[in-house]
Amino acid sequence: MLRVDVVTIFPDVFEPYLSEGMLAIARRKKAIEVCVHDLRDYSTDKHKSVDDRPYGGGPGMVMMPDPVFRAVEDISAGTEPPPRTIMLTPQGRLFDQSLSRELAREQHLLLVCGRYEGFDERIRAGLKPEELSIGDYVLTGGELPALVVIDAVTRLLPGVLGHEDSAQFDSFTENRLDCPQYTRPAEFRGMRVPDVLLSGDHGAVAQWRLEQSIRRTRERRPDILAKQTCSANDKE
Ligand code: SAM
Repeated sequence: MLRVDVVTIFPDVFEPYLSEGMLAIARRKKAIEVCVHDLRDYSTDKHKSVDDRPYGGGPGMVMMPDPVFRAVEDISAGTEPPPRTIMLTPQGRLFDQSLSRELAREQHLLLVCGRYEGFDERIRAGLKPEELSIGDYVLTGGELPALVVIDAVTRLLPGVLGHEDSAQFDSFTENRLDCPQYTRPAEFRGMRVPDVLLSGDHGAVAQWRLEQSIRRTRERRPDILAKQTCSANDKE
């Protein structure tokens, strides 16, 4: 089972999302356990402060080091192996499917969500967490990025997806985008499902899907197709 601890100043945003769909099933199956911690519980002043004004002036507030250090040290204490500690920040390594696969092999993740203008630099220097970004844009907090990581990792945990939802054909799994998908009816407003998908010829269907997947990737994401390792037959 993967254990995920999350440190946040908005603990209540997690449960509604984690209680729906595949994530709820994964928790019920005990593939994943998510424990959300309120950073304010680790503040030592009477106002439960977690932020303060930036030295040098300027707008906004900065996350204070002490509550974050206390939270990370408390959650990590006595756990073996120690959690892989990840700070969500737009300055981090870009999160992608291959990192998602890597994280799905871990036993314990600790995700630290920022707010305000971000973290006091000594949190980076002292705790040396990994830093992950979910994209080149700036959100108000690390809670959505943490949920993105949890969601992407959970669907890769053994036993979470049924055969019919298997992740093996997903976009990025083979450095390709997924092929077009169709369901009933066979014709909708004059648009027909490609004949090959109705043919019952599994070999022809697999070939069509591979071709569509490569074509779509070449059109939309030639950058990831360049990373592709494929057989001579696929190249053809
Ligand atoms: N001033 C910071 C900077 O430019 O790097 C941005 C701070 S942002 C307003 C507040 C928090 O939201 C960050 O500390 C981080 O936890 C989270 N966050 C915002 N955008 C993110 C992204 N793209 N990926 C991961 N976390 C993000």
